[in-house]
Amino acid sequence: MELYSGYIGKLIEELERLPGIGTKSAQRMAFYLINLPPERVKRLADTIVEAKENVRYCKECYTLTDRELCPVCSNAGRDRSTIMVLENTRDLAAYEKTGKYNGVYHVLHGAISPMIGIGPQDIKLKELIQRLEGDVKEVIIATNSSLEGETTAMYISKLIKPTGIKVTRIASGVPVGGDLEYIDEVTLLRALEGRIEL
Ligand code: ZN
Repeated sequence: MELYSGYIGKLIEELERLPGIGTKSAQRMAFYLINLPPERVKRLADTIVEAKENVRYCKECYTLTDRELCPVCSNAGRDRSTIMVLENTRDLAAYEKTGKYNGVYHVLHGAISPMIGIGPQDIKLKELIQRLEGDVKEVIIATNSSLEGETTAMYISKLIKPTGIKVTRIASGVPVGGDLEYIDEVTLLRALEGRIEL
């Protein structure tokens, strides 16, 4: 016997695929959605579709944005000679929230992970190397301190070293395995200030 109607079952199945959502949460969300007024459900569905259709990569730093250039890259006051390399847009938001970093960013959209078959060609690395043809003085590698983040940092450092551009890595203070987005601003700033040259 089927526990739920086909439609509810399908909804639960879709919600379960979202990161961090287990079966119980998916069920709770599904029933919550079913009980909402139709216009609220429509607004939520439309918002998801609109975001998907309109969000794109910034032409310079590859963060996710609505425009050709993100707010950081379109700000003439930012120091373009310093590029901070991050794994994703959430990490960029975390550093941007500190309000203390005046350089620009580069978002890789992932990290190198031989275990699950993600190689250098699968992240925005080629795009980073292209940016180095400009007047860049320092590349700060701020990938997560996970195995993948460290592997990526070492790979990038080896790639950039021969160009003579200074390569630094944010300091510890960021817990091992820690995702940048969950770390408080003070720790993020300390990690940035204490960065070491690779
Ligand atoms: Zn940008």
